Amino acid sequence: MKDSIMPKQGFETLAVHSGPGHDPVTGATSPAIHQSSSYVFRDSQHAADVFALKEPGYIYSRVTNPTVAALEQKLAELEGGVGATCTASGLASNLLAFSVLMDAGDEFVATTKLYGGTAGQFRDTFQRSYGWKCHSVDPTRPEEFKAKINERTKLLFIESLSNPEGVIADIEAYARIAESAGIPLIVDNTVATPYLCRPFEFGADLVVHSTTKYFSGHGQAMGGAVVDGGSFDWMKHASKFPVMTTEGNGGYRGTTFAKDFAGMPFAIASHAVGLRDLGMNQQPMNAYLTMLGMETLPLRMKQHCENAVKIAAFLSQHKAVKSVSFAGLPASPYYGLAQKYMRNGWASGLFTFDLAGGYDAALKLVKNAKLFTHLANIGDTRSLMIHPASTTHAQMTDVQKTAAGCGPGVVRVSVGIETAEDLIEDLNQALAHA
Ligand code: PLP
Repeated sequence: MKDSIMPKQGFETLAVHSGPGHDPVTGATSPAIHQSSSYVFRDSQHAADVFALKEPGYIYSRVTNPTVAALEQKLAELEGGVGATCTASGLASNLLAFSVLMDAGDEFVATTKLYGGTAGQFRDTFQRSYGWKCHSVDPTRPEEFKAKINERTKLLFIESLSNPEGVIADIEAYARIAESAGIPLIVDNTVATPYLCRPFEFGADLVVHSTTKYFSGHGQAMGGAVVDGGSFDWMKHASKFPVMTTEGNGGYRGTTFAKDFAGMPFAIASHAVGLRDLGMNQQPMNAYLTMLGMETLPLRMKQHCENAVKIAAFLSQHKAVKSVSFAGLPASPYYGLAQKYMRNGWASGLFTFDLAGGYDAALKLVKNAKLFTHLANIGDTRSLMIHPASTTHAQMTDVQKTAAGCGPGVVRVSVGIETAEDLIEDLNQALAHA
């Protein structure tokens, strides 16, 4: 663990006080919503200088916006990174990060245990539209990652705690492989959140998020982010990452991101080139709502995690349930990794369980649950439930579904912050139908 990036204050304090703080002019404690597309220049020299990245400043909200910048600062501080770039959604953050690092024809290696939407993005659109080839590898066998790396490989991608199965990645093992190959390790930290796990402390280089989930926490705002850990040595691997390391690449004459913005090079490049050209910027209203949610992130996460432990224990004893995939239970093969990488060995509020009655039983359970809302989201204050095989993972083949932990009888729950006993009672009555 790197001492230099350990937080100086407790996470609960950071959740409230991180970011720019109160407005120095008005004294307002709540972040202002800058619902403005563009910003007035002082004069022609000022305009030319901010366009040329010679002076920091706001030009146009596709690239930077003060409310979004406040969220970026808050996210970077909570993750222990040096900067962040917010996007319209979590999947947009993958596209943003990859677009800075990859050229057409490049390759990357990812685990098979990924959110279904990410797996589809990697398998379909990234390959078809951008020519980026994904090699998928079982996360329990990090050595297989090595075998897939070649001179065109530009990054490794894992989820710290996977959606939906709750598989916990051995982040340090992946960080070592990435380092020896001279490529960055990108960790999707959506399900764990920095309250449970801070991947930079274990050697990750970039962290991506769907802020749609636990950060906003109330199911009201879409968003994503790429957080720059600031420690990857881009110049050491200069030929692999031309946008970061070649003067003028990305269209800024006289600028080399890795040299000229050495403090937070990826965060600057991903705004100045990525957001500028791809335009998946986050809206200020969503940034505002997400910041409100973040202030209570630790309180909510604690309740999500404690509830999930109780509910998973109940389900693992129920006769209609064949198995429970939850790293917070001692019987889980990922329990040891949870103890190492997650605060208190908690495993967030998301997990799956497999019903003995298969596909039909799973649909009956979803139909009869009353407190668990049937919808396709996670990380909300309310408890949520879905049948992945017929919804989020429906586009996959049966083999791919099973590899992703979404076989026919599998149900995914995102445990909310309600009273655990009420949730257990609801599941008990719904299971009687399954
Ligand atoms: N990463 C993970 C782990 C997710 O669970 C999700 C969505 O469920 C995403 C990324 C994509 O996020 P978004 O829906 O905000 O694009």
